[in-house]
Amino acid sequence: MTTSPTKVNLLDYDRQGLRDLFVQLGEKSYRADQVMKWIYHRHVTDFAQMTDVGKALRDKLEAACEIVPPKVLFEKQAADGTYKWLLGMDGGNAIEAVFIPEATRGTLCVSSQVGCGLNCTFCSTGTQGFNRNLSSAEIIGQVWVAAKHLGNVPHHQRKLTNVVMMGMGEPLLNFDNVVRAMSVMRDDLGFGLANKRVTLSTAGLVPMIDKLSESSDVSLAVSLHAPNDELRTELVPLNKKYSIAELLGACQRYAARRPRTSITFEYTMLKGINDQPEHARQLIKLMRTVPSKVNLIPFNSFTGTRFERSDEATIRRFQKILLDADVLTMVRRTRGDDIDAACGQLKGQVLDRTRRNAEFQRRLEAGARNAA
Ligand code: SAH
Repeated sequence: MTTSPTKVNLLDYDRQGLRDLFVQLGEKSYRADQVMKWIYHRHVTDFAQMTDVGKALRDKLEAACEIVPPKVLFEKQAADGTYKWLLGMDGGNAIEAVFIPEATRGTLCVSSQVGCGLNCTFCSTGTQGFNRNLSSAEIIGQVWVAAKHLGNVPHHQRKLTNVVMMGMGEPLLNFDNVVRAMSVMRDDLGFGLANKRVTLSTAGLVPMIDKLSESSDVSLAVSLHAPNDELRTELVPLNKKYSIAELLGACQRYAARRPRTSITFEYTMLKGINDQPEHARQLIKLMRTVPSKVNLIPFNSFTGTRFERSDEATIRRFQKILLDADVLTMVRRTRGDDIDAACGQLKGQVLDRTRRNAEFQRRLEAGARNAA
Protein backbone atom coordinates (compact mmCIF):
# COMPACT_ATOMS: atom_id res chain seq x y z
CA MET A 1 0.00 0.00 0.00
CA THR A 2 1.70 3.20 -1.09
CA THR A 3 -0.28 6.26 -0.22
CA SER A 4 0.53 9.79 -1.31
CA PRO A 5 1.43 12.30 1.44
CA THR A 6 -0.57 15.04 -0.28
CA LYS A 7 -3.81 13.17 -1.01
CA VAL A 8 -6.46 11.73 1.28
CA ASN A 9 -7.27 8.04 0.96
CA LEU A 10 -11.06 7.74 0.71
CA LEU A 11 -10.91 4.28 2.35
CA ASP A 12 -10.14 6.15 5.58
CA TYR A 13 -13.66 7.62 5.80
CA ASP A 14 -17.03 6.29 6.86
CA ARG A 15 -20.21 7.63 5.25
CA GLN A 16 -20.49 10.70 7.47
CA GLY A 17 -16.79 11.50 7.14
CA LEU A 18 -16.97 11.20 3.37
CA ARG A 19 -20.02 13.45 3.20
CA ASP A 20 -18.24 16.08 5.32
CA LEU A 21 -15.21 15.83 3.06
CA PHE A 22 -17.33 16.39 -0.05
CA VAL A 23 -18.98 19.43 1.53
CA GLN A 24 -15.50 20.80 2.28
CA LEU A 25 -14.68 20.32 -1.40
CA GLY A 26 -17.75 22.42 -2.23
CA GLU A 27 -19.89 19.48 -3.36
CA LYS A 28 -23.30 18.13 -2.42
CA SER A 29 -23.03 15.42 0.22
CA TYR A 30 -25.03 12.84 -1.78
CA ARG A 31 -22.15 12.74 -4.24
CA ALA A 32 -20.19 11.01 -1.48
CA ASP A 33 -22.81 8.26 -1.41
CA GLN A 34 -22.38 7.66 -5.13
CA VAL A 35 -18.62 7.39 -4.76
CA MET A 36 -18.99 4.99 -1.84
CA LYS A 37 -21.04 2.63 -4.00
CA TRP A 38 -18.38 2.68 -6.69
CA ILE A 39 -15.73 1.81 -4.13
CA TYR A 40 -17.47 -0.89 -2.10
CA HIS A 41 -20.08 -2.37 -4.44
CA ARG A 42 -18.14 -2.25 -7.68
CA HIS A 43 -14.56 -2.25 -6.38
CA VAL A 44 -13.56 0.72 -8.56
CA THR A 45 -10.52 2.75 -7.49
CA ASP A 46 -10.14 4.92 -10.58
CA PHE A 47 -12.25 8.10 -10.50
CA ALA A 48 -12.33 8.15 -14.33
CA GLN A 49 -14.51 5.01 -14.28
CA MET A 50 -17.18 6.58 -12.05
CA THR A 51 -19.46 7.38 -14.92
CA ASP A 52 -22.35 8.91 -12.99
CA VAL A 53 -20.01 11.41 -11.34
CA GLY A 54 -19.58 14.62 -13.39
CA LYS A 55 -16.24 15.35 -15.05
CA ALA A 56 -15.58 18.47 -12.96
CA LEU A 57 -16.00 16.56 -9.71
CA ARG A 58 -13.93 13.65 -10.99
CA ASP A 59 -11.08 16.07 -11.74
CA LYS A 60 -11.42 17.63 -8.32
CA LEU A 61 -11.30 14.20 -6.66
CA GLU A 62 -8.35 13.17 -8.77
CA ALA A 63 -6.40 16.21 -7.56
CA ALA A 64 -7.11 15.87 -3.83
CA CYS A 65 -8.02 12.24 -3.18
CA GLU A 66 -7.05 8.67 -3.92
CA ILE A 67 -8.46 5.20 -3.27
CA VAL A 68 -5.60 2.94 -2.24
CA PRO A 69 -6.30 -0.56 -0.91
CA PRO A 70 -3.53 -2.68 0.64
CA LYS A 71 -1.20 -4.31 -1.85
CA VAL A 72 -1.54 -8.09 -2.21
CA LEU A 73 2.00 -9.41 -1.72
CA PHE A 74 1.04 -13.04 -1.69
CA GLU A 75 -2.10 -15.16 -1.72
CA LYS A 76 -2.54 -18.81 -0.90
CA GLN A 77 -5.42 -21.27 -0.84
CA ALA A 78 -5.60 -24.15 1.63
CA ALA A 79 -6.80 -27.63 0.74
CA ASP A 80 -10.12 -26.88 2.50
CA GLY A 81 -10.74 -23.71 0.47
CA THR A 82 -9.56 -21.29 3.15
CA TYR A 83 -7.81 -18.34 1.56
CA LYS A 84 -5.03 -16.22 3.02
CA TRP A 85 -3.70 -12.88 1.81
CA LEU A 86 -0.44 -11.32 2.86
CA LEU A 87 -1.06 -7.61 2.50
CA GLY A 88 1.65 -4.96 2.32
CA MET A 89 1.12 -1.86 4.44
CA ASP A 90 2.90 1.49 4.43
CA GLY A 91 6.30 1.30 6.13
CA GLY A 92 7.42 -2.17 5.02
CA ASN A 93 5.05 -4.10 7.27
CA ALA A 94 2.63 -6.79 6.18
CA ILE A 95 -0.43 -8.32 7.80
CA GLU A 96 -2.63 -11.29 7.04
CA ALA A 97 -6.34 -11.66 6.34
CA VAL A 98 -8.08 -15.03 6.04
CA PHE A 99 -11.32 -16.00 4.28
CA ILE A 100 -13.13 -19.10 5.52
CA PRO A 101 -15.84 -20.38 3.15
CA GLU A 102 -18.59 -22.56 4.62
CA ALA A 103 -21.81 -23.97 3.20
CA THR A 104 -24.03 -21.14 4.38
CA ARG A 105 -21.62 -18.31 5.03
CA GLY A 106 -18.25 -16.81 4.19
CA THR A 107 -16.24 -15.32 7.04
CA LEU A 108 -13.32 -12.95 6.72
CA CYS A 109 -10.87 -12.74 9.60
CA VAL A 110 -9.44 -9.22 9.71
CA SER A 111 -6.35 -7.82 11.46
CA SER A 112 -6.37 -4.57 13.45
CA GLN A 113 -2.69 -4.00 14.23
CA VAL A 114 0.71 -4.88 12.85
CA GLY A 115 1.71 -7.44 15.47
CA CYS A 116 0.28 -7.25 18.97
CA GLY A 117 1.54 -5.90 22.27
CA LEU A 118 -0.45 -8.14 24.62
CA ASN A 119 1.92 -11.09 24.56
CA CYS A 120 -0.59 -13.90 25.17
CA THR A 121 1.72 -16.85 25.65
CA PHE A 122 -0.01 -19.28 23.26
CA CYS A 123 -0.45 -16.90 20.31
CA SER A 124 1.99 -16.69 17.43
CA THR A 125 1.21 -13.04 16.72
CA GLY A 126 2.06 -12.25 20.34
CA THR A 127 5.59 -13.61 19.95
CA GLN A 128 6.27 -11.14 17.17
CA GLY A 129 5.95 -7.96 19.14
CA PHE A 130 4.13 -4.83 18.10
CA ASN A 131 4.74 -2.26 15.39
CA ARG A 132 1.72 -0.01 15.01
CA ASN A 133 -2.02 0.38 14.67
CA LEU A 134 -3.56 -0.08 11.25
CA SER A 135 -5.38 2.88 9.73
CA SER A 136 -9.10 2.61 8.92
CA ALA A 137 -8.13 2.31 5.26
CA GLU A 138 -5.84 -0.60 6.05
CA ILE A 139 -8.58 -2.35 8.03
CA ILE A 140 -11.48 -1.85 5.61
CA GLY A 141 -8.98 -2.40 2.78
CA GLN A 142 -8.65 -6.05 3.87
CA VAL A 143 -12.38 -6.52 3.35
CA TRP A 144 -12.15 -4.64 0.05
CA VAL A 145 -9.38 -6.93 -1.26
CA ALA A 146 -11.31 -10.07 -0.28
CA ALA A 147 -14.61 -8.76 -1.66
CA LYS A 148 -13.02 -7.90 -4.99
CA HIS A 149 -11.32 -11.28 -5.21
CA LEU A 150 -14.59 -13.08 -4.42
CA GLY A 151 -16.70 -10.95 -6.76
CA ASN A 152 -18.84 -9.99 -3.77
CA VAL A 153 -21.78 -7.68 -4.43
CA PRO A 154 -23.69 -6.59 -1.31
CA HIS A 155 -27.42 -7.37 -1.46
CA HIS A 156 -27.06 -9.37 -4.73
CA GLN A 157 -24.15 -11.72 -4.85
CA ARG A 158 -23.05 -11.99 -1.30
CA LYS A 159 -20.00 -14.20 -0.84
CA LEU A 160 -18.72 -12.42 2.20
CA THR A 161 -21.36 -12.65 4.93
CA ASN A 162 -19.40 -12.24 8.17
CA VAL A 163 -16.38 -10.36 9.41
CA VAL A 164 -14.52 -11.26 12.59
CA MET A 165 -11.92 -8.92 14.04
CA MET A 166 -9.86 -11.93 15.10
CA GLY A 167 -6.73 -11.53 13.02
CA MET A 168 -3.51 -9.94 14.20
CA GLY A 169 -3.72 -7.36 16.97
CA GLU A 170 -6.02 -6.20 19.74
CA PRO A 171 -8.86 -4.27 18.10
CA LEU A 172 -9.85 -2.34 21.24
CA LEU A 173 -6.34 -0.84 21.41
CA ASN A 174 -7.00 0.70 18.00
CA PHE A 175 -10.47 1.85 18.91
CA ASP A 176 -11.31 4.75 16.58
CA ASN A 177 -9.94 3.19 13.42
CA VAL A 178 -11.61 -0.14 14.14
CA VAL A 179 -14.98 1.44 14.93
CA ARG A 180 -14.83 3.53 11.74
CA ALA A 181 -13.94 0.52 9.60
CA MET A 182 -16.70 -1.56 11.24
CA SER A 183 -19.14 1.21 10.36
CA VAL A 184 -18.29 0.83 6.65
CA MET A 185 -18.62 -2.96 6.96
CA ARG A 186 -22.21 -2.49 8.16
CA ASP A 187 -23.21 0.45 5.97
CA ASP A 188 -25.55 -0.31 3.05
CA LEU A 189 -23.29 1.81 0.88
CA GLY A 190 -20.34 -0.16 2.21
CA PHE A 191 -20.40 -3.93 2.61
CA GLY A 192 -23.94 -3.99 4.01
CA LEU A 193 -23.38 -6.60 6.73
CA ALA A 194 -25.87 -6.95 9.60
CA ASN A 195 -24.63 -5.78 13.01
CA LYS A 196 -24.54 -9.27 14.43
CA ARG A 197 -22.44 -10.50 11.51
CA VAL A 198 -19.55 -8.26 12.48
CA THR A 199 -17.73 -9.58 15.55
CA LEU A 200 -15.06 -7.85 17.56
CA SER A 201 -12.85 -10.15 19.61
CA THR A 202 -10.93 -8.78 22.57
CA ALA A 203 -8.50 -10.14 25.14
CA GLY A 204 -10.50 -8.14 27.69
CA LEU A 205 -9.85 -4.40 27.86
CA VAL A 206 -12.60 -3.58 30.34
CA PRO A 207 -12.94 0.22 29.87
CA MET A 208 -12.86 -0.16 26.10
CA ILE A 209 -15.63 -2.78 26.16
CA ASP A 210 -17.76 -0.18 27.95
CA LYS A 211 -16.79 2.44 25.38
CA LEU A 212 -17.69 0.07 22.54
CA SER A 213 -21.01 -0.59 24.20
CA GLU A 214 -21.88 3.09 23.83
CA SER A 215 -20.79 3.52 20.24
CA SER A 216 -21.35 0.30 18.35
CA ASP A 217 -23.75 -2.59 18.06
CA VAL A 218 -21.48 -5.34 16.86
CA SER A 219 -21.23 -8.85 18.30
CA LEU A 220 -18.68 -9.23 21.05
CA ALA A 221 -16.30 -12.16 21.53
CA VAL A 222 -14.00 -12.38 24.53
CA SER A 223 -10.79 -14.42 24.64
CA LEU A 224 -11.16 -16.05 28.04
CA HIS A 225 -9.02 -19.23 27.80
CA ALA A 226 -9.01 -19.94 31.54
CA PRO A 227 -11.67 -20.17 34.25
CA ASN A 228 -9.64 -18.70 37.13
CA ASP A 229 -7.40 -15.67 37.55
CA GLU A 230 -4.24 -17.55 38.39
CA LEU A 231 -4.27 -19.56 35.18
CA ARG A 232 -5.61 -16.74 33.03
CA THR A 233 -2.84 -14.40 34.14
CA GLU A 234 -0.32 -17.00 32.92
CA LEU A 235 -1.96 -17.26 29.50
CA VAL A 236 -3.24 -13.71 28.99
CA PRO A 237 -0.98 -11.27 30.90
CA LEU A 238 -3.61 -8.53 30.48
CA ASN A 239 -5.54 -10.39 33.19
CA LYS A 240 -3.20 -8.80 35.77
CA LYS A 241 -4.81 -5.50 34.91
CA TYR A 242 -8.42 -6.60 34.50
CA SER A 243 -9.48 -9.66 36.48
CA ILE A 244 -12.05 -12.19 35.29
CA ALA A 245 -14.68 -10.68 37.63
CA GLU A 246 -14.12 -7.19 36.17
CA LEU A 247 -14.15 -8.60 32.65
CA LEU A 248 -17.44 -10.42 33.21
CA GLY A 249 -18.86 -7.23 34.69
CA ALA A 250 -18.13 -5.39 31.43
CA CYS A 251 -19.65 -8.31 29.48
CA GLN A 252 -22.82 -8.11 31.58
CA ARG A 253 -23.09 -4.38 30.84
CA TYR A 254 -22.50 -5.00 27.13
CA ALA A 255 -25.17 -7.71 27.01
CA ALA A 256 -27.66 -5.75 29.11
CA ARG A 257 -27.94 -3.10 26.41
CA ARG A 258 -28.65 -5.68 23.73
CA PRO A 259 -31.55 -7.97 24.53
CA ARG A 260 -31.42 -11.38 22.84
CA THR A 261 -27.70 -11.25 22.14
CA SER A 262 -25.09 -13.34 23.82
CA ILE A 263 -21.37 -12.98 24.17
CA THR A 264 -19.03 -15.55 22.72
CA PHE A 265 -16.25 -16.72 25.02
CA GLU A 266 -13.24 -18.13 23.19
CA TYR A 267 -11.33 -20.83 24.96
CA THR A 268 -8.21 -22.28 23.35
CA MET A 269 -7.77 -25.92 24.39
CA LEU A 270 -4.23 -26.41 25.68
CA LYS A 271 -3.21 -29.94 26.60
CA GLY A 272 -2.88 -30.46 30.35
CA ILE A 273 -3.17 -26.73 31.02
CA ASN A 274 -6.82 -25.66 30.90
CA ASP A 275 -8.64 -28.72 29.54
CA GLN A 276 -9.51 -30.74 32.67
CA PRO A 277 -13.05 -31.44 33.98
CA GLU A 278 -12.44 -29.14 36.97
CA HIS A 279 -11.74 -26.28 34.53
CA ALA A 280 -15.01 -27.02 32.74
CA ARG A 281 -16.89 -26.93 36.05
CA GLN A 282 -15.31 -23.60 37.01
CA LEU A 283 -16.18 -22.26 33.56
CA ILE A 284 -19.84 -23.25 33.97
CA LYS A 285 -20.08 -21.06 37.09
CA LEU A 286 -18.69 -18.07 35.19
CA MET A 287 -20.96 -18.62 32.20
CA ARG A 288 -24.03 -18.56 34.44
CA THR A 289 -23.42 -14.85 35.07
CA VAL A 290 -23.64 -13.62 31.44
CA PRO A 291 -25.78 -14.56 28.40
CA SER A 292 -23.04 -16.55 26.75
CA LYS A 293 -21.86 -19.21 24.42
CA VAL A 294 -18.50 -20.93 24.49
CA ASN A 295 -16.28 -21.50 21.50
CA LEU A 296 -13.61 -24.13 22.14
CA ILE A 297 -10.63 -23.61 19.84
CA PRO A 298 -8.24 -26.55 19.42
CA PHE A 299 -4.78 -25.04 19.91
CA ASN A 300 -2.87 -24.48 16.67
CA SER A 301 0.81 -25.03 16.93
CA PHE A 302 3.61 -22.75 15.72
CA THR A 303 7.40 -22.88 15.81
CA GLY A 304 8.87 -22.26 19.22
CA THR A 305 5.71 -22.81 21.30
CA ARG A 306 5.73 -24.89 24.48
CA PHE A 307 2.00 -25.66 24.24
CA GLU A 308 0.23 -28.63 22.67
CA ARG A 309 -3.30 -29.18 21.43
CA SER A 310 -5.67 -31.11 23.71
CA ASP A 311 -6.68 -34.52 22.40
CA GLU A 312 -9.95 -34.78 20.51
CA ALA A 313 -11.44 -36.97 23.28
CA THR A 314 -10.46 -34.43 25.96
CA ILE A 315 -12.06 -31.61 23.97
CA ARG A 316 -15.27 -33.62 23.53
CA ARG A 317 -15.34 -34.49 27.25
CA PHE A 318 -14.89 -30.80 28.13
CA GLN A 319 -17.65 -29.81 25.71
CA LYS A 320 -20.01 -32.45 27.13
CA ILE A 321 -19.59 -31.20 30.70
CA LEU A 322 -20.58 -27.71 29.54
CA LEU A 323 -23.45 -28.92 27.36
CA ASP A 324 -24.82 -31.07 30.18
CA ALA A 325 -24.99 -27.90 32.27
CA ASP A 326 -26.88 -26.14 29.44
CA VAL A 327 -23.97 -23.94 28.41
CA LEU A 328 -24.11 -23.64 24.64
CA THR A 329 -20.68 -24.85 23.51
CA MET A 330 -19.21 -25.29 20.06
CA VAL A 331 -15.87 -26.65 18.95
CA ARG A 332 -14.32 -24.46 16.28
CA ARG A 333 -13.24 -26.52 13.32
CA THR A 334 -9.61 -25.98 12.47
CA ARG A 335 -9.42 -24.41 9.04
CA GLY A 336 -6.51 -23.55 6.81
CA ASP A 337 -3.78 -24.87 9.10
CA ASP A 338 -1.84 -26.28 6.13
CA ILE A 339 -1.14 -22.68 5.04
CA ASP A 340 -0.67 -21.30 8.59
CA ALA A 341 -4.00 -19.49 8.37
CA ALA A 342 -5.62 -21.01 11.46
CA CYS A 343 -6.38 -19.11 14.68
CA GLY A 344 -3.24 -17.85 16.34
CA GLN A 345 -0.99 -18.68 13.40
CA LEU A 346 -1.03 -15.31 11.65
CA LYS A 347 2.37 -13.70 11.45
CA GLY A 348 2.55 -11.28 8.56
CA GLN A 349 5.76 -9.32 8.54
CA VAL A 350 6.12 -7.31 11.69
CA LEU A 351 9.00 -4.91 11.91
CA ASP A 352 8.99 -5.15 15.67
CA ARG A 353 9.59 -1.99 17.60
CA THR A 354 9.93 -3.71 20.93
CA ARG A 355 12.69 -6.02 22.03
CA ARG A 356 10.40 -8.99 22.35
CA ASN A 357 10.94 -10.26 18.85
CA ALA A 358 14.70 -10.40 19.30
CA GLU A 359 14.23 -12.23 22.59
CA PHE A 360 11.91 -14.73 20.93
CA GLN A 361 14.43 -15.35 18.17
CA ARG A 362 17.13 -15.94 20.80
CA ARG A 363 14.90 -18.42 22.61
CA LEU A 364 14.15 -20.20 19.34
CA GLU A 365 17.82 -20.52 18.52
CA ALA A 366 18.64 -21.71 22.02
CA GLY A 367 15.83 -24.30 21.70
CA ALA A 368 17.22 -25.47 18.38
CA ARG A 369 20.72 -25.78 19.89
CA ASN A 370 19.39 -27.81 22.83
CA ALA A 371 17.47 -30.07 20.49
CA ALA A 372 20.55 -30.69 18.34
N1 SAH B 1 -6.62 -9.74 20.45
C1 SAH B 1 -7.94 -10.21 20.16
C2 SAH B 1 -8.09 -10.55 18.71
C3 SAH B 1 -7.24 -11.74 18.25
S1 SAH B 1 -8.34 -13.03 18.16
C4 SAH B 1 -8.29 -11.34 21.09
O1 SAH B 1 -7.44 -11.75 21.87
O2 SAH B 1 -9.44 -11.76 21.12
C5 SAH B 1 -7.45 -14.41 17.93
C6 SAH B 1 -8.21 -15.60 18.53
O3 SAH B 1 -7.43 -16.77 18.31
C7 SAH B 1 -8.32 -15.44 20.03
O4 SAH B 1 -9.40 -16.03 20.60
C8 SAH B 1 -7.05 -16.13 20.44
O5 SAH B 1 -7.04 -16.41 21.75
C9 SAH B 1 -7.06 -17.34 19.53
N2 SAH B 1 -5.73 -17.92 19.41
C10 SAH B 1 -4.56 -17.29 19.57
N3 SAH B 1 -3.54 -18.14 19.43
C11 SAH B 1 -4.06 -19.34 19.16
C12 SAH B 1 -3.49 -20.61 18.85
N4 SAH B 1 -2.18 -20.79 18.80
N5 SAH B 1 -4.35 -21.61 18.59
C13 SAH B 1 -5.67 -21.42 18.61
N6 SAH B 1 -6.26 -20.25 18.88
C14 SAH B 1 -5.47 -19.21 19.15
